Amino acid sequence: VIPHDDAAAPGPIRTCIGCRERVAKRELLRVILRIDEDGLPAVVADPEGTAPGRGAHLHPTDACLELAVRRRAFARALRWKGGAQAPDTAGVRAHLALSETE
Ligand SMILES: [Zn+2]
Repeated sequence: VIPHDDAAAPGPIRTCIGCRERVAKRELLRVILRIDEDGLPAVVADPEGTAPGRGAHLHPTDACLELAVRRRAFARALRWKGGAQAPDTAGVRAHLALSETE
């Protein structure tokens, strides 16, 4: 049976890499891995969800960001193979700080 009621559809579900809660994708912030000019990895926010490449999702909160950092969840979720060099998350932090002032 094909459901016709789109309003009732839960939509895509994603796991927050911070608190590991499974929630609707639209409640989460997508982040992606960028390699800067120095070849260093940086995690950046992708609020539109349109950037190419592998993304990870987390609640747009400091608490979940901290959890994800402490768990080294970014490197795992984004398939970063850089070893001890953990991806820089300053870009995500900055994005959250900006969102809070709105
Ligand atoms: Zn979370």
